[in-house]
Amino acid sequence: MSGSLGTGSIPSATQPAVAARSVPEIAAEIQSLEFRFGTDGSHVLARAVALAAEARARADHPLYLWARLLEANMRRRSGELAVAAGICSEVNAWAREREHRPLLARSHQQLSIIHGNLGDIAAGLEHAVRAVEAVDDDTSPRARGVILLRLADVLAEGGSPDAARTRYGHAEQVAIGAADVELRLVVLNNLAYAEHLAGNSEQAWEAIQRLRTVTEATGGDLSPDALDTMAMIQIARGRYPEAARIAVGNVDAYASAGPDDADGLAEFLLTLAIAQRHLGDQSAAQDALDRCATICEERELAGVRVRALEEQAELHAARGDHARAFIVHKRFHAAERELHSQQRDAQARARHAVFETAEARREAERFREQARRDPLTGLPNRRYVDEHLPVLLSAGGPIVVALVDLDHFKRVNDLCSHEIGDRVLTVVAGLLTQAARSGGFAARLGGEEFLLVLTGAGTAEAAPALERFRQSVQDHPWSQLTGNLPVTVSIGALQSGPADTQTMVLAAADRLLYEAKNSGRNRCVL
Ligand code: GH3
Ligand code: MG
Ligand code: MG
Repeated sequence: MSGSLGTGSIPSATQPAVAARSVPEIAAEIQSLEFRFGTDGSHVLARAVALAAEARARADHPLYLWARLLEANMRRRSGELAVAAGICSEVNAWAREREHRPLLARSHQQLSIIHGNLGDIAAGLEHAVRAVEAVDDDTSPRARGVILLRLADVLAEGGSPDAARTRYGHAEQVAIGAADVELRLVVLNNLAYAEHLAGNSEQAWEAIQRLRTVTEATGGDLSPDALDTMAMIQIARGRYPEAARIAVGNVDAYASAGPDDADGLAEFLLTLAIAQRHLGDQSAAQDALDRCATICEERELAGVRVRALEEQAELHAARGDHARAFIVHKRFHAAERELHSQQRDAQARARHAVFETAEARREAERFREQARRDPLTGLPNRRYVDEHLPVLLSAGGPIVVALVDLDHFKRVNDLCSHEIGDRVLTVVAGLLTQAARSGGFAARLGGEEFLLVLTGAGTAEAAPALERFRQSVQDHPWSQLTGNLPVTVSIGALQSGPADTQTMVLAAADRLLYEAKNSGRNRCVL
C-alpha cells in the first residue's frame, strides 16, 4: 500500500516488519505534496489516501485531516467537486471549532477554489479572505503565496482587476522573498491572464514579459500554460503572426508529450485556430478546430467544446458561409445553455455536500443532547448526572446533593392509572426545576427517583430551599389528577466534602432518604 514505507519484503518472525513512520515523517511527505503545480494528480491522490490511513493509524487527527485536504484537492482537480466540497467543509468545521489555523487556512483556500469553480464568486471571495486571515508566522512561504494568489485570482474572476493586481503583487513579493521561482511564474502567468480578461492587453503583455525574463534568468522554458496565455494576449494585441507562431510551437511540443498529458491540448488548439482565422488561413484554422473538437469529445471537455463551437461559427462566417455560421451559432447557444445547467447541477450537488456535513453535525449535537435527557419529563438523565456531577464535585465548592423519591407512588399507578402516574412525575419534575433555578440542576435518575443538586449553597441555605420544595409538592393541587390521593416526596440530602466522589455522595444520600422514609415519609433528612 505505502510504497515509500520500505523495501517491499514480506515481514516474517526472523525479520521484523518495517517500522511504521513517525508523525513528523508523515507530515513531511504531506507538506512536500501539497501546493505543487502541474504534478501528476493520480499519483498524488494515491499518496494522499495512503497518508490519511497512516495518520489515522498514528491516531493523529489533525495530520489525518491534512492528508484528507490533499486528497480533496486532487479530487477537485479531476472534477469530483462534490466529494472535494464535502471533505473540505468537514475539515473546515473541525478547524474552526478548534481554531486550528493551518487547517483553517488550507480548507478555506480550497473552498474558495471550489466555489469559484462553481461560479459562486461571492462565496469564493469570502473563503479566500478567511484563508488569508488564518495565515500566521508558522505558515510556509509557499502556502502563504498560494493563499494570496487565490485571493488575487478570485478578485480577478469577480471583475476587480485593481484589487487583484495588488494581491498578485503581494503574492509575487512572497515568492521573491522565498526565492520560489516556480510560485513566481504561476503568479505572473495568472496576473497576465487576469489583465488579459480585463481587456488590459498592454499590462497583460508586460506581465508576460516579466514572466519570460524570470524564466530565462533561471535557464528554464516557458510552461505550456504561459505560452498559451502569451498567444491569447498577442491575438488581443492584433499580433496574429506572432500568436500563431507561439500557438503552433505549443501545440507541437504538447502533443508530443503523450496522450496522458493532453487535457490542455484542446485549449491550445483552440487558441491556434483563433490566431489562424485572424491571419486569414481558414483551412489551417479548420484543421486545428477539428483536432480540438475530437479531443473535446474523447475527454468530455464540455467547457472547451462550447468555446470551440463559438469559434466554428466565426470561422464559417469568415468564409462567407453565413447559413452554416447561423446553424453552428444556434448549436453554440444550445451547448452553452446545457453547460450552464450542468454547472448549476454540480453547484447544487456541492452545496448539498457542504450543507450535508453541517446538518450532520447539528444532527449529532441533537442526538447527544437527546441521549442526556429523560423523554418523559424533559429533565437531564442519569447519563447527564454521570458526566456533570463529578465535575461539580471536583470543583471543590460546597454543593448540596439531594435524592428525592415519591412516597407510595405505586398507589398512584394502582389506584389511578399509569398514565396519571406519568403526569404526576412530570409535575414533580417541573417543581424540581423551579427549586434548581438559583444554581445547580435537577435530574431524573430513574423510576420515581430524582436528584437535585444545589450549587453555591451550604446546608444553611439549602435546608430552607429543600423544605420549600417539599412543601410545594405537598401543596400542589393534585386533586385534579389523583382525586383524594395525596402526593408527597421524601428527601435525603447532604453537603459534599472536598474529597467526596459521586458514588460516596449518592450512597450517603440514599441512606438519609431511607431514614426519611422510615421516619414517616413526606420529610427531608439533611
Ligand atoms: P416508597 O414510598 O417506599 O418509595 O413507595 P413507592 O410505592 O413509591 O415505591 P416502589 O419502589 O415500591 O414503587 C415505585 C413505583 O414507581 C413502581 C413503578 O411501577 C413506578 N414507576 C417507575 N417508573 C415509572 C414511570 O415512568 N411511570 C409510572 N407511571 N410509574 C413508574
Ligand atoms: Mg417511592
Ligand atoms: Mg423508589
